[in-house]
Amino acid sequence: MTTINSSNNINIDGDQLWHSIHEMAQIGATEREGVCRLAFSAEDRAGRDRFIDDCQELGMEISRDTIGNIFARMEGEQPTLPAVMVGSHLDSQPTGGKYDGAYGVLSALEIARSLYAAGRRPTRSLEIVSFANEEGARFAPPMMGSGVFTGKLDLEKMLDTTDFEERTIRGELSQDTTGDFMTRPQRAIDSFFEIHIEQGPILEAAEIPIGIVTGAYAQRWYEVTLTGMESHAGPTPMSYRKDALVAGAELILAVEQTALAHGPDGRGTVGTLSLSPFSRNVIPGSVTLTIDTRHSDNPQLDAMDAMLRQAAAEIAQCRSVSIQVDELWHSPMRPFDPELIHSLEQAAQARGFNTLHLASGAGHDAVYMATSGVPTAMLFVPTKDGISHNESESITREDAIAGCQVLCDAVVARLFAEL
Ligand SMILES: [Zn+2]
Repeated sequence: MTTINSSNNINIDGDQLWHSIHEMAQIGATEREGVCRLAFSAEDRAGRDRFIDDCQELGMEISRDTIGNIFARMEGEQPTLPAVMVGSHLDSQPTGGKYDGAYGVLSALEIARSLYAAGRRPTRSLEIVSFANEEGARFAPPMMGSGVFTGKLDLEKMLDTTDFEERTIRGELSQDTTGDFMTRPQRAIDSFFEIHIEQGPILEAAEIPIGIVTGAYAQRWYEVTLTGMESHAGPTPMSYRKDALVAGAELILAVEQTALAHGPDGRGTVGTLSLSPFSRNVIPGSVTLTIDTRHSDNPQLDAMDAMLRQAAAEIAQCRSVSIQVDELWHSPMRPFDPELIHSLEQAAQARGFNTLHLASGAGHDAVYMATSGVPTAMLFVPTKDGISHNESESITREDAIAGCQVLCDAVVARLFAEL
């Protein structure tokens, strides 16, 4: 059992953390004070190289893997024991913020710096990871580095993924400067910790600095095809129509109603829509759209599925169209590790911070780690106005330091835990 023993505590250097976050934000800085470090771009490489330099300066051992994840290891007193891994990602959206991802990697770096500064060598080894291509903005899908690392995504397929200019990850990585570093040996992982900005409004509204993430929302993604009858917009009276788009409009409202009926954690989004033929004076005969549904509770997501399908059947009958609902992807709620959650809670309490337990509506590298069976935990800090994936994304210095300190205490407890 990991317990927080305050005599083991290491105090992080808040100024140093805040400074390193803003130094990193200089790399790929945009005019509107955001960052653009698209995965595998020159800016992403520069950010990653900066991180490697900082870790090497501490004497950490750098390794990498074939998809471009970077690992920095501080060897423990007992190097054969599975290591405690901490990290996140350094890549960003094209108009991203300074904190999404970078805050997590640089918090892990701050923990390592603080351990060295205190002259403390842990029992277990500490490994910091900077996962490649978390955002998926240039090369889809997102969370690619952690997906490959945990064996959930196929390496060769991912290397052949192309961007809008038909460049592949394989090609981009061939110009990489990390080829000289050793490949990360297969080593067992004791636990994984990630700290991240919340990217939503809940913590800020509650005025609570520390969010302890219980797991990631269950998700179901659908592709829906509505088929009616295309016909002339003039001669066809309203009562004769089989308008696939009007039926689609009703379905979109049903998605919203379904999410609202399962609130506050219900989510329903129609993010893409296409219609055919695409003509001003033709009644649309065919519509395809996608639905993204999420909930923090598996049975509630199942209930949303049933409600949506029922609505689709009723709309189809009423509008004389056919509606085909295909589920593309289902990911159940992934609970994080209860023992690690408890240690984060203890750490926050010991430092006098209030906490709120919440599930993550967004995907994170931690979710793949949890899915692969590694005991995983995650912390959130409040995000100003809940805004992220935006150049104006912001967190307070105070919250950034509080989050990193709580993370540090829980990580240190695990690093020095009696065996
Ligand atoms: Zn992120």
